[in-house]
Formats: sequence, structure tokens, C-alpha cells
Amino acid sequence: MAEENQKHFLSRFGVEIALALFVVLTLVAIVAERPILQTGFTIDARHGEVSHYNDSVDGGLSTSEIIDSDAMEWRCVLAEQAIYSFCGFELILDQARTDGLDLRNYDRIRIWLDYEGPTESIRFYLRNHDPVYSTPELHDTTKYNQIEFDAEMASGGPFEFSMHDFFVANWWFQRYRIAPELAHPQFDNIVVLEVQTGSAPQPGLHTFRMERVEFTGQVLTSERWYQGIVGSWLIAALVFLGSRTVKLNRELRRRSQRERELLEINALLDHRGQQLEQKTKTDPLTGAFNRTGIEEALKVGLEERRRAGKPLSIVMLDIDQFKPINDTYGHAVGDRILTALSTLVQENIRGSDLFARWGGEEFALVCRNTSLRDAAAIAEKLRVKISLHHFDEDVGVTASFGVATLGERESLEQIFERADQALYRAKDLGRNRVVVSD
Ligand code: GH3
Ligand code: MG
Ligand code: MG
Repeated sequence: MAEENQKHFLSRFGVEIALALFVVLTLVAIVAERPILQTGFTIDARHGEVSHYNDSVDGGLSTSEIIDSDAMEWRCVLAEQAIYSFCGFELILDQARTDGLDLRNYDRIRIWLDYEGPTESIRFYLRNHDPVYSTPELHDTTKYNQIEFDAEMASGGPFEFSMHDFFVANWWFQRYRIAPELAHPQFDNIVVLEVQTGSAPQPGLHTFRMERVEFTGQVLTSERWYQGIVGSWLIAALVFLGSRTVKLNRELRRRSQRERELLEINALLDHRGQQLEQKTKTDPLTGAFNRTGIEEALKVGLEERRRAGKPLSIVMLDIDQFKPINDTYGHAVGDRILTALSTLVQENIRGSDLFARWGGEEFALVCRNTSLRDAAAIAEKLRVKISLHHFDEDVGVTASFGVATLGERESLEQIFERADQALYRAKDLGRNRVVVSD
């Protein structure tokens, strides 16, 4: 029962529940956007090969050496000399310098660097390889994305920059005549991390130790994230509308089905009702109307007579010597004769005439809008038909008729009485004849 209730509740409020859930999820997605999308990546000595260099490549006198490559610790002694002094350290992420790291998803960089020495600033490079401007054999053709910061910052603990703080080293794009549209920072294929003594190098001993570099950012941009949220709402709305349409359609079909069933039941009941009504109006043996059935025709006829002056005539019919027939041939034959006679009469009257069994072997024919003469003609026609008809066992059957027309201010009772009297006259006069009441 509880399960049933739960089911009912879900089907009734399912959409509302889903909507509430969706709203909560959206709020969470907005409020907790940063922690959800946060992603990070750390680079240390294990990610590449370490290497060092100094101004001796340009004929200078400075020296440099790696102290501990696993700890990315190195030092150099810059000479006091006429040419520009420098030394540096590289972490080469790909030996071929072509297949590096895609750091585009990250927007912050944190550097753990410890420096001791006389220099005032330190340079940090993220060098990007791109076949558009890079040649692997010429190491300097990688793009030099650069930041330069105060040497005092490099005292072990991390310091942080935005990736937007990087710029492309001037000397680099001047040396390689890089087109302006390629002269912006680029991080899609970083092959080397590099630390170098800065713009105003000081002679003496410089010691560096870089523990690691960490990149943080978002899996998706905020723009994509909000596009996703709006998109999910649109899809949810579509799904909702779709399911609503399907549901309404089903309900509509169910209802029209139910309506059809009801109509069918109604039609059946109607039919049954008509059948029952018919039964109460008809005589079960002969199928002619009974006294109840005749009532309506009389009412209509009376109305027509009074309103429109249309004549209403009655023909009473009684089978002659029926008792002896019964006695001679048996009651069953008598019954079949009654039925056959009824059928015969009904086949030979007009649609507006109404034929009813009055009782026993006596019948009444109500002829609406029929004059006395016409009614007498009908009676005569029926008399002949009956007398010529071949009934069961070749029994010769005749009938006597009394005909009357409703006079002005005459009651139904009176006209039936007159028709009856005419019928008696017919019997008296020798049966098998029509007597008209005047
Ligand atoms: P008459 O010519 O004077 O009318 O003579 P009759 O014998 O027809 O008249 P009577 O009134 O003496 O007899 C009527 C008979 O009709 C009596 C009865 O046995 C018979 N009868 C009445 N109803 C039925 C019926 O439903 N079935 C059968 N088989 N006979 C019936
Ligand atoms: Mg009779
Ligand atoms: Mg009789």
C-alpha cells in the first residue's frame, strides 16, 4: 500500500520533483563553479631532462653546473666582462623538443624557487614549439613566453602569477621576424621550462633550486560552463514538453476509447429498452400490437381528428366459428391460425394503419386519416384475403367485420361500441361479411 502511494506520488509530482532537483543542481553548479571545474598539474624534475648553459656560448667567461638534477638545483658564477653575462637552466620536457604539454586550460602558475645571489630579477620561460615558427634543430626557435620577477620573491615558498602575465620575449620575435599575429603568448605545446638570470645580471655566485611548478585552471571556461547549464535547461524543457505531449495524447486516446465504450453501452441499452417497450406493446402469440400498443395510435388519430378534422376509422374483426376449429383441430392449430391471420392482415394494410389483438380471436384495426368508405373497403379486402387464404390443415377460415368512423363529439368508447355492434350485426347476418356502422 505504501509502495502504491509512493508510486502514485511519483507519477503525480514527478515533474515537480525533477524540476526542484534541477534547480538545486543549477544552484550548486553556479555557487561551486570553481571547485567543480578546478584542475591542476604539477611539473617537477621527473617530467624532463635538466640542462644548463651560460654566456660561454657567446665567448663569455661565466661558468655553471648542476648540483642536484633530481632537486633541480644548480649554480653559476657570472664573470665581470664586457659582453652581456647570463646563465640559465632548462627542464626539457621532450628530448626532441617537438611534443610538449598543452597548458591552455590553466590560468595560474605557482613556482617553488629558491634563489641566492646578487641578481635583482629572474626570468622564467615557458617555451612553446609550433612548426609554424619552430625548427627542432634550432632550439631557440621555440617561442619564448616570458615573465620576469624580482629575485627576492624566490625564497623557497611558492609565488604565483596569472598565465596572462606572460609576454613573448622581444628579442625572440625580432630575431625570427615573427609576424604580429604570431607574437602573442602561446601554451599549447610547451617543450621547455627555463629559468635564467635577469635583465641586469650581477657578477658573482648564483644558486638556484626549483622544487616544482604548478599550474591550476578550469576544466572548462566559465563561458562553456554557463552555456552547458543553459543548454541542459533547454534540453530539459524539450524533454518535458515532449513527455507532456505524449502523456496528453495517451490520455486523449484513453478518454475517446472510454467514450466509445459508453456510447456502445448506451446504444445497447437503448436497443434493449426499445425491445422491452416493443414487448410490452405487442401480443406474444401473433406479433400484432396489444391493447397498450394500440393506445398511441388512437391518441394520434384522435388528435388528428380534433385538430385537422382528419377522419379516424375503426375496423373490428372476429374469426368465425373459431371454437369449433379449436375443438376439431386442436388448440395448437388454432394458435397457428391466429398467427397466420395476423401476418396476413399486417401484410395487407398501410403503414399508417395499426393492427392489434383485441382479445381471443378478435382484432382491431385503427385506420388514421381514413374515411368510413375507405375503411369499409379495407375491411372488405381483408375479408376476401382471409377467406381465400390457405391455413394449416386446409382449414377454411372466415372472419366478420364491423366498421365505424369517429363522429363529432363522439368518444373512443362510443366508436368502439358502434364497431362492436356492427360486428355483431355481421355475425347475425350470417358471418364472413363487413357491416358498416352508420
Ligand atoms: P363466432 O363465429 O360467433 O365468433 O363463434 P366463435 O366460436 O368464434 O366464438 P366463441 O366466442 O364462442 O369462441 C371463441 C373461441 O376462441 C373460444 C376459444 O377457445 C378460442 N380462443 C380464444 N383465444 C384463443 C387462443 O389464444 N388460442 C386458441 N387456439 N383459441 C382461442
Ligand atoms: Mg369468433
Ligand atoms: Mg369472439
